[in-house]
Amino acid sequence: MLYVLDLYLWRGFENTCCLETLLGKQTWTKVALRNVPLKPGRSLMDWIRLTKSGKDLTGLKGRLIEVTEDELSKHNKKEDCWICIRGFVYNVTPYMEYHPGGEDELMKAAGTDGTDLFDQVHRWVNYESMLKECLVGRMAVKPIAALKGVLPEKRVLASSAKDLSPSYDWFQTDSLITIVIYTKQKDMNADLVIVDCQDKQLRVEIIMDDHSYLVEVDLDHAVSEDVAVNIAEKVGKVEIILNKKDNIQWKMLGQPREGHNTFIKRTDRGLFYRKCKLVSKTEVTHDTKLFCLMLPKGTHLRVPTGQHIYLKHIIAGTEVVKPYTPVLPFLPLDFQEPPCHDGVHLYLMIKIYSHGLFTQALDHLQIGDCISVSNPEGNFKKSQVQTSEDLLLLAGGTGFTPMVKLLNFALTEVSCLRTVKLIFFNKTEDDILWRNQLEQLALKDESRFEVQFILSQPSEDWVGKQGKISPSLLSEFVKRSRRDSKVLICICGPTPFTEQGVQYLKDLGYSQEEIHAFTA
Ligand code: FAD
Ligand code: NAP
Repeated sequence: MLYVLDLYLWRGFENTCCLETLLGKQTWTKVALRNVPLKPGRSLMDWIRLTKSGKDLTGLKGRLIEVTEDELSKHNKKEDCWICIRGFVYNVTPYMEYHPGGEDELMKAAGTDGTDLFDQVHRWVNYESMLKECLVGRMAVKPIAALKGVLPEKRVLASSAKDLSPSYDWFQTDSLITIVIYTKQKDMNADLVIVDCQDKQLRVEIIMDDHSYLVEVDLDHAVSEDVAVNIAEKVGKVEIILNKKDNIQWKMLGQPREGHNTFIKRTDRGLFYRKCKLVSKTEVTHDTKLFCLMLPKGTHLRVPTGQHIYLKHIIAGTEVVKPYTPVLPFLPLDFQEPPCHDGVHLYLMIKIYSHGLFTQALDHLQIGDCISVSNPEGNFKKSQVQTSEDLLLLAGGTGFTPMVKLLNFALTEVSCLRTVKLIFFNKTEDDILWRNQLEQLALKDESRFEVQFILSQPSEDWVGKQGKISPSLLSEFVKRSRRDSKVLICICGPTPFTEQGVQYLKDLGYSQEEIHAFTA
């Protein structure tokens, strides 16, 4: 039996849904089942091969048609299934058997507009590329009512959001262009400002809770690649300073691009990617490597603690996207210094699977090659840590990655924390990531930090703890330092590990506010 362990199209819906449910935050009426076994020959790579085979996957011999709602609704069976995403209609019948979440999940949107369902789950999934050969055509737009899921509808702001809407202005000197964005948000900081300035194109995205403000223009004249970002945190003013290439007076900032001056929900904004250069690749364990990527010169991007990015790469002619959680280059042992961000490099700790589609491609990248990196995503809030007295981190395998920045943040910047404990589950000793560094950290900060390694497939020599995540192991290691201390438990690892862990923690009496599960 084959299982695809990663997510694409609706697969993540099941994961998110299960976790939300376990955490008592069920937002959808139906709780989906976890991944289903796929038949042999139905992996993502097999799907890519089929899409390249020249087979007519839509049954329309390459013709694109206009689809009415009535027509769409007729194609609602497994053997004839059309789905609309963002105004485009796909015949997903041939994809059914390749969907890791199973046919039933895909059938939830059969014959309807699946945009909302899709967006709730994985708006980052590159369905345009994955389902290119399944494209039937566009929805026929009704004369009055806008089509559900089409852009203009999403841009209509609730009046409360309008009141909060940022604005921008710009001014110039002989050599500089300064763009000033008034966010009206008091706790503005550099993590919330993402700037990309390349080839006369300027894109500034400001993240404000679940909304995003965008300044996006084709600049009037050329600028150099040096971009400075100044933030007046207290008043929420953001300045982007560009250097003119020629000292001439600009008549205008530039031509607005499609998303310019919009303030919309983050989930309605497409993910933006920039090409980053691979500068080094170093071994962490027998199968895991630390990839160092360099951001382009005109980019200002910081990935906040607990958030991930998406890497996009073309594999066999199809764009494939996978999430990864940036780490630090090493675990800093000096707690006096704030964490160092050089603002230029991104470090990713990635396990290379011998049959993994994406990680095999990553492993074949040469130094100097480029890969596309998205803006950060994720719902972890540092304030969850800042109000805790005990921080307990449960990691399984590369589920350690979000814990790296979290650990550093907790130990360097959160003074109210009394204890920080990492319980790290791996198969064998050889699989433990940064074991030495973790042990050194535990020695350095004995009074606050403790690490416990637990192996599921230890060798005979292993004298430490063994087992898999279980109620008894958790009750042994997950404890409050005082009877009433405020605790935060973060968990990340293989999906079943995380799901079971959350359930066991709840059974042990921890509340949903005390648990954060990292998922996509
Ligand atoms: P896949 O091709 O999806 O395969 C994964 C495994 O399944 C492999 O063992 C493969 O051999 C097996 N497999 C695939 N297809 C089949 C099949 N048909 N039958 C049987 N077995 C099959 N990973 C990291 O290493 N570091 C990170 O920092 C990181 N961060 C993440 C953050 C988030 C939010 C999420 C959701 C995941 C993260 N991951 C991380 C996991 C990452 O996104 C990928 O899932 C992972 O790299 C595997 O991708 P792949 O395409 O190489 O593997
Ligand atoms: P792994 O080495 O296969 O497993 C790590 C540990 O978890 C092992 O002890 C393993 O035990 C145990 N485990 C695996 N499946 C389990 C299950 N069903 N129930 C209980 N324990 C289980 O892990 P990996 O290959 O590094 O994979 C890490 C996972 O973390 C990936 O799925 C990745 O997508 C996810 N991840 C998520 C994020 C995020 O932010 N959401 C970030 C990084 C990584 P046995 O195998 O011996 O049973």
